[in-house]
Amino acid sequence: MAEFDLIGLIRERAATRADVLLGIGDDAALLQPPPGHALVVTADTLNEGVHFPAGTAAADIGWKTLAVNLSDLAAMGAKPAWCTLSLSLPRADAAWVGAFVDGFLDLAGRHGIALVGGDTTRGPLSIGVTAMGLVEQGAALRRDRARVGDDIWVTGTPGEAAGALVLGGHVPGPAPAGEVASSARAALDSRLARPTPRVEAGRALLGLAHACVDISDGLLADLGHVCARSGVGAEVRLDALPASAALREVFGDASRVLQATGGDDYELCFTAPANLREQVQLALEQVGVDASRIGRIVAGQGVRALEAQGQPWQPPRAGYEHFG
Ligand code: ADP
Ligand code: MG
Repeated sequence: MAEFDLIGLIRERAATRADVLLGIGDDAALLQPPPGHALVVTADTLNEGVHFPAGTAAADIGWKTLAVNLSDLAAMGAKPAWCTLSLSLPRADAAWVGAFVDGFLDLAGRHGIALVGGDTTRGPLSIGVTAMGLVEQGAALRRDRARVGDDIWVTGTPGEAAGALVLGGHVPGPAPAGEVASSARAALDSRLARPTPRVEAGRALLGLAHACVDISDGLLADLGHVCARSGVGAEVRLDALPASAALREVFGDASRVLQATGGDDYELCFTAPANLREQVQLALEQVGVDASRIGRIVAGQGVRALEAQGQPWQPPRAGYEHFG
């Protein structure tokens, strides 16, 4: 199959929206941002062997390449609008592209984001997405707005994707506490393969959260970016980290290092004033997202993780360091 036919296959299936004046098929797309909004733009590339193992199902790769980009829009509080797709493929495999597009457009449809263009070339398997979103002017959630005294929150149950990576032998980590039940394994694997970008949560946090980041590199590491950009420090209570049932079932007490430092979950970590606790909880409940309060922003710099009794925590083995 030729490059041209592959593009045709994608074009046939891509949905459009009213603010796409011209989509796939010309030299470039024409898009009409609404007045009073900022355009939010982000790009992420996934390479075979680096971001996903060789042999990963094409539909899962399609889902995930869009999910990681939607997660960046979510962390800014943006509504997804448009995206482009750059495909580098070792060969023109229509079945692979069809399955890839299944996963990609499944997630795109859930968030009303239109695929408006891209590029298709021959090369090592690599997928680049640029996602564009819209946020009301002046309202975006940013990393540099955390303030001393803010609560620190996290959505969902971070650590599950890292648990799947450890079980798959892709990264070092704690040993399972016993025999691994297939149901727990499947739960962790699905979080790695098909992360849920917290788009609705990001929208719900507009006007409530001070600062926000999505967790791609690990909770403590990504919170560290917020602290550095905001000129503040953070204290995180390890016993307050939300525990996933599947993760605890597989790793027991050793789950903690995965919760604190495991990446790839694409949950949101955000800060908000303490007097808005109830409103934050309610706003997220209304979009069906669980969130946990895990610490507070303090004067100073850097992230300190604390045990229940307040003593500083270090990851149990040096081998885990690369998680952070
Ligand atoms: P050009 O040579 O002008 O870059 P291309 O042949 O690369 O044109 O692309 C033709 C059209 O198809 C363009 O509108 C481009 O945005 C779109 N396109 C190419 N590859 C993809 C893809 N992987 N996904 C979506 N649109 C694509
Ligand atoms: Mg091109």
